[in-house]
Amino acid sequence: MKRDLRGMTLPEVAEALKAMGQPAFRAKQLYTWLHKGAGYEDMTNIPKTLREALAAEYDLYRPTPVRRQESARDGTIKYLWQLADGNCVETVLMRYHYGNTVCISSEVGCRMGCAFCASTIGGLVRRLEPHEMLDEVLFTQLDSGLEISHIVLMGIGEPLDNFDKVMRFLELVNSPEGMNISMRHISLSTCGLVPKIDALAERKLQLTLSVSLHAPNDEIRNRIMPVNQAYDVETLLSACRRYYAATSRRISFEYAMIDGVNDSADNAKELLRRLKGLPAHVNLIPLNRVEESPLVPSTKAAVERFQKILEDGGVSATVRRTLGGDIDASCGQLRRKYTQQKG
Ligand code: SAH
Repeated sequence: MKRDLRGMTLPEVAEALKAMGQPAFRAKQLYTWLHKGAGYEDMTNIPKTLREALAAEYDLYRPTPVRRQESARDGTIKYLWQLADGNCVETVLMRYHYGNTVCISSEVGCRMGCAFCASTIGGLVRRLEPHEMLDEVLFTQLDSGLEISHIVLMGIGEPLDNFDKVMRFLELVNSPEGMNISMRHISLSTCGLVPKIDALAERKLQLTLSVSLHAPNDEIRNRIMPVNQAYDVETLLSACRRYYAATSRRISFEYAMIDGVNDSADNAKELLRRLKGLPAHVNLIPLNRVEESPLVPSTKAAVERFQKILEDGGVSATVRRTLGGDIDASCGQLRRKYTQQKG
C-alpha cells in the first residue's frame, strides 16, 4: 500500500517535494490543498506533471459517506464513513452554542470490552491512520457545510490504544496551514490506560483529558470495565493527579449512570471522597441503551440526586444533554447495524 499524502506533516511534504526537485513554495501550496480535502484533479495551480508524479507515489483517498442521518430534533448529523479498505467508522456532528463539534472514532472497533458499550462488541478490527481521523473532521465539515471548531475523541475506539497515530492526527488537525483547530478545543477520552496517560502528560498539550471513570470503586468498576483489572481506580486517579501536576489542565470525568449499578447516594458520596483535592469536573451521562446489553439507564431522579451530592460536596458536575437520540447517535450502534445488514 502506498503512503497517503494527507497523513504527512508539512515538513514531510516539503521533504518529499524537495526530493522531486520542486521549489520550496510548493510545499505550503500542496499542503493547503490537502487540508481542504482536494483531490489531485482540483489542484489547478500545481503543474499537471507534478500531480501525476505525486499520484504515482502517494495515495490520496477520500472517504465516502455510506450513511448520513440527521436528527429532526436538534440537527445532530451522524455519518458512517467508508474507508479505503471497506471498513466503516462513525462520526457525529453536534451543534452547540459555542461551536460545531465533531465526535470522531480512533479505531475500527475496540478491544477494551466495557460492558455497556456497543463499539467493543465485535472487538478491534484495526487502528485508524492519522489521515483517516483527519478525514473524519475534514469531510464532515465539507459535506455538512458547517465549520467545525471543536473535536472530541469519543467515538469508536480507545484513542490511547492508538497513541502514536492519534498524536500525529492532533499535529495535523492543529497545524496553522491546515484546519488550525486549537488544542483547547479538543477533548480526548480514555478508559484509563495509565502508562499512556503519563505519556500524554509528558507532551503537555492544552487539550482536555476526559477519563471514563463510571464507578467510585474497584468492585463496581471491575464488573463493567475490564481495563480496571490492569489499572485500578487508585492507580488511575494517581495518574490523573500526575497529569494535572504536569499540565495544569482540569480533568473531566465521564460517569455513565446505570440503574442499580453505580447510581446510589452512597456511590456518589464515595466518588466525592475519592476525587477530593483533584481539580475535576464530572460529566454524568444517562446510559444509552445498547440492544445487546441488559444494562439500563438510571432514573432522572437518581441522576439528579447524584449530581446534587457531588455539587454540594464541592465537585462540579453536569448532566450531559443527549443529542441525536432519534438517530442512534451514541457511538458504535450505526456501524453495528450497517455491518449486520451487509452480513
Ligand atoms: N475509549 C474511550 C472513548 C470512547 S467512548 C473511552 O473509553 O473513554 C466515549 C464515552 O462514551 C466513554 O466515556 C464511554 O465509556 C461512554 N459510553 C460508551 N458506551 C456508552 C453507553 N452505552 N452509554 C453511555 N456512555 C457510553
